[in-house]
Amino acid sequence: MKLNLQLFAVPFRRTSKTKKRMRRTHLKKEVGTITKCPKCGEALRPHRACKKCGYYKNEDALHLKTEEKE
Ligand SMILES: [Zn+2]
Repeated sequence: MKLNLQLFAVPFRRTSKTKKRMRRTHLKKEVGTITKCPKCGEALRPHRACKKCGYYKNEDALHLKTEEKE
């Protein structure tokens, strides 16, 4: 029985380590935009209420309890 493996297009050469790595220099995760909470200075994603103080657009959006002291 004759083996007929090359029925489809195959790469002429194996991609070298360098070429593969050069191509993948563009494949990286983007760092998302980070802003600061105007009230407490905590790092935040834009258009999100602050996790620390619960404020968004200078309003107490989450009504977090602030009695607890550290
Ligand atoms: Zn805050």
